[in-house]
Amino acid sequence: MKIGLFGGTFDPIHNGHLAMAQVAQTALQLDSVWFIPVYTPPHKERTGLTSGAHRLKMIEHAIAHEPTFSVSKIELERERTSYTYETIQQLRQQYPEAEFYFLLGADNIAGLGSWKELAYLLNEVTFVAFARPDHDTTTTYPVIWLDMPLQAVSSTAIRNFQAYNYLNPQVLHYMLRHHLYGLTAIHELVFHEMSYQRFVHTMGVVETAVALARCHGLNERQCHVAALLHDYAKATPKAELHDYMSHYFPEEPFIAPIAHAYVGSITIQEDLCITDPEVIDAVRYHTTGHPDMGVVAKCIFIADYIEPNRQFPGVEQARQIAYADLEAGLRHALAQTNAYLQAKGKMIHPDSHALFEKLQQLPVEGEKEC
Ligand code: ATP
Repeated sequence: MKIGLFGGTFDPIHNGHLAMAQVAQTALQLDSVWFIPVYTPPHKERTGLTSGAHRLKMIEHAIAHEPTFSVSKIELERERTSYTYETIQQLRQQYPEAEFYFLLGADNIAGLGSWKELAYLLNEVTFVAFARPDHDTTTTYPVIWLDMPLQAVSSTAIRNFQAYNYLNPQVLHYMLRHHLYGLTAIHELVFHEMSYQRFVHTMGVVETAVALARCHGLNERQCHVAALLHDYAKATPKAELHDYMSHYFPEEPFIAPIAHAYVGSITIQEDLCITDPEVIDAVRYHTTGHPDMGVVAKCIFIADYIEPNRQFPGVEQARQIAYADLEAGLRHALAQTNAYLQAKGKMIHPDSHALFEKLQQLPVEGEKEC
């Protein structure tokens, strides 16, 4: 029996982990892969690890449709620092004939020399490693390296509201339901207002808006909330959007792709008691822009355009400009959006025109290093 053993904090488990298990299983023809969440990792200086019960549940959700993957409580049940050699000793007693393959990312390979009872481990298991962005792949120890496209994700990134496109939907549901990793009741409410893909896009906008806020000295909290709420009314039925528009904005023409922004700026007040005028404006103007929009609104407009799930040609250039200079980033995003609408024969909102005119007259500030 060939078993892949995959130890980690899994706080939370992400698709990079799952890809590693799948690649190892195929390449090494493993009968199964066992995920082993640590109780306390000996090699990580991290406090505030999420409870073992939550991490275990998230792994169960992530592997629910993988019949040959399972999760082992062996380290959680020891309830002390999790040394891999103790785990292997225990497993060896239970499975004397098994061939064990221990899966690792390149970041762990560098520290392998400091693992307790390494000689014993090298005798009992075959280490199987995967490259990881920004980590060296040289080692003097016998390790099998398996090929896999680099997975630009870490649990740390997810704990920082990033890389949500690497989450299994059931894991994301679980995180939202239990308000893990900074997710709140508002995140949960927003999630229920939109499709799964729209929520992943929304979290991409959150990630970018917070990064832009840090870079340009804006209020991170305001930018986070505005980004989270920007598409709150995106799934509102057209007839309802129409009613809201004629009631609250009778002077505005009804343009369906723009209406959700105007209506969202009202429904976030009605449903969620949002009162911050900068957040309300950011939601209202995130599609058209407005000549008098504030910095939070500018940040959301740009973040919506360049968030990491956007992949159109020229997006990298748009990102560089936005991080160098917020106004230039806005002007660039707006010019591209207007050109796109024009090419499609669609109407450009008068506010977008007026904003562009205004931005044309502004001097471009010096570049910044974020
Ligand atoms: P954190 O960001 O909290 O340090 P992590 O993303 O590294 O977490 P762990 O649970 O610590 O996740 O990882 C378990 C194992 O998977 C480790 O050996 C780690 O090196 C490896 N691993 C995790 N993510 C990747 C990845 N994106 N590419 C390659 N290996 C990875």
